[in-house]
Amino acid sequence: MISDFFLEQLKNACRIEEIINSYVELKPSGGGRFVGLCPFHAEKTPSMMVYTSTQSFYCFGCGAGGDVISFIMKIENLEYIEALKFLSQRAKIDFIEDENNSTQKNIKKRLLAANVAAAKFFYKSLLNSAETKRYLMRERKLKTETIKKFGLGFAPDGSLNLTKHMLSLGFSVDELLEAKLVARGSGKKVYDIFRNRIIIPIINTKSEVIGFGGRAIGNFKPKYLNSKDSLLFKKTNNLFNLNLAKTEKTDTMILVEGYFDAIAIVQAGFNNVVATLGTALTTKQAQIISMYAKRVVLSYDSDQAGVNATRRAVNILSELGLQVDVLNLGAYKDPDEFIKNNGSVRFKNAINSSVAALDFEFNAIKNKFDLQKTQDKSQFLKEVATWLSKITNQLDREVFISKISTEQNIDHQVLNSYVNNLIKRRIKSKEKAVQNNAVKQLISRTVNREDNQRIPQKYIISEELIICALYKNPDFFQLLNEICPSDLFITKNAIIYDVLLERLKELQAIEITCLNSVLDQNSIEKLSGILARNNDILLNKDIVLECVNNLKRYKQEETELKASQMSGEELKQYFKKIYKSKNI
Ligand SMILES: [Zn+2]
Repeated sequence: MISDFFLEQLKNACRIEEIINSYVELKPSGGGRFVGLCPFHAEKTPSMMVYTSTQSFYCFGCGAGGDVISFIMKIENLEYIEALKFLSQRAKIDFIEDENNSTQKNIKKRLLAANVAAAKFFYKSLLNSAETKRYLMRERKLKTETIKKFGLGFAPDGSLNLTKHMLSLGFSVDELLEAKLVARGSGKKVYDIFRNRIIIPIINTKSEVIGFGGRAIGNFKPKYLNSKDSLLFKKTNNLFNLNLAKTEKTDTMILVEGYFDAIAIVQAGFNNVVATLGTALTTKQAQIISMYAKRVVLSYDSDQAGVNATRRAVNILSELGLQVDVLNLGAYKDPDEFIKNNGSVRFKNAINSSVAALDFEFNAIKNKFDLQKTQDKSQFLKEVATWLSKITNQLDREVFISKISTEQNIDHQVLNSYVNNLIKRRIKSKEKAVQNNAVKQLISRTVNREDNQRIPQKYIISEELIICALYKNPDFFQLLNEICPSDLFITKNAIIYDVLLERLKELQAIEITCLNSVLDQNSIEKLSGILARNNDILLNKDIVLECVNNLKRYKQEETELKASQMSGEELKQYFKKIYKSKNI
């Protein structure tokens, strides 16, 4: 088994456009795509597309496709593992020798056990440290039960406290290194990573301790120290408190920046809060949130850095179709401070009266300019018009256009037509891309269809669009998981669809690179083809539902057709079976 972590690392280091370009000259063809002569069949006009967004390639001439690993396998004529070695050598990454599944699982088990033992050690040390307890209870205003609930702990000062304890329990130095609990210094000696810090265990949705956050006591730097990425833990793919948040029956998720913000909010009575782990919000984390919530209330710090982070998060979250609101903390610097000073009832009111992300964005743009100055004012209008042109809801747009024209004393008509021009320009460039793609799609309809001769196009296209929707927007997972089991699929696309569903269920990555080990080459090519053919199509819920209905219709027609061709006796048996299954 090759770990997703290694594959992710490899994928980040080996950009597909760069690798392919070292074999075939690639030319940009807009929208993050490149085109070049396919090395796998003879051609004079280029028909191989490389997509930077999905890190995949597909040849519209011969149907070759896949990710960077498939490309290397094909062009260098290598086996999968050899191709991984080839690429990791090129990228100067250590190749993690393939271990069989059970050793990998055993290692994971040992690391999890090490984390549990460490968490217990930290918790006990906290009970013995009156000073740290005082800090948590007086300054942080945490109740004893909250400390218990989160399993907060304390890493004493000194470089070998934890190491000695863990060795006495029978863990090896290698295991401690692998769990990122200790590090090796320049003199080859190992030492505790967490020293003189309050410890916050990070627990995943399976209630496993996968890592730790450590907050310095006093002015020690860095203020926060998190576990480094390990076999168990990847900070860009996890969220603090998701284990508690997912049990709360609500459509709203509060998103904060810090552990203590989340802890304070839980103590105030709201479990539905998660925090990022010392990095800016990632798309992956946003996708995870979208599996549990429809509305996100952002509650970041109120300083400039927090405002910038909020705007960034608003973009990522709204792109996934989530409703995003922003909490107004007034004069308080973060939700922790707010709750300490105002209590939980006021915090609840603040959540309910949080402003829509649109208002927040508008104010953030406005605050960048001094609108008394003419130059600033025209710069502001330009920026705000670009922003307006990206708002998809026409009514929302109109509200802001009216508001701005009144506030800034600008002719409503002028502003309106300026914004409309920007929108038209954007639509035009999009249409062009779709047109280009339509031509390519027509060509592609003739390839890779060998196993689907009898099945009408519309059903195959429906399958492809469902797969594409799920791949590009994993937030369709919940919907599809409910209404579209993989046996609705008619062709072998079912295999691909099944793997995507299974992995999303387990919160595993679904990029092609990670699928290479679970899907055969044929399926990988198919998937690349599907993504390539539908690259420019914007998929919304209605389209997905229509596709699912198509597949259901096919199943029904097929059953009826079968029934019409049966003999009298067969028909009797057939109905018996149906009655039995429905308990009639
Ligand atoms: Zn080709």
